[in-house]
Amino acid sequence: MAKEIRHPAPGADAETRPYWEGAARGELVLQRCRACGTLQHRPRALCVTCLSGEIEHFVASGRGHLYTFTVTHQNQAPGFREACPYVLAYVELEEGPRLLTNVVGCEPSELRIGLPVRAEFAATDGEFPVPVFRPA
Ligand SMILES: [Zn+2]
Repeated sequence: MAKEIRHPAPGADAETRPYWEGAARGELVLQRCRACGTLQHRPRALCVTCLSGEIEHFVASGRGHLYTFTVTHQNQAPGFREACPYVLAYVELEEGPRLLTNVVGCEPSELRIGLPVRAEFAATDGEFPVPVFRPA
């Protein structure tokens, strides 16, 4: 089983603060454009489709599937070095957006594309946790 990554504190700014505050509540928060309905992630001030500033936040299901992944065997960054090998992955959320994340709680050899996963939140060195995923 992969060791736990010690994540650095995420940098929250005006665009991303609602996302990180959601993570602190154990909620995966995405954005929806009120003008055209586009769902998006990463958090932005404007809609990536129509450039409207009418963006709202909502709590996503936290469910998705493994879109792609790699097993990282070398990373010299503190907090990651000690966790190698670990899984770096794109998870496609049930709502559509894809999230760059880590998959935890399983052997890398157990993973396959399309595997159902569910979000949970890993503590960091700072105020906000980061979402990671575990096989559902
Ligand atoms: Zn839009």
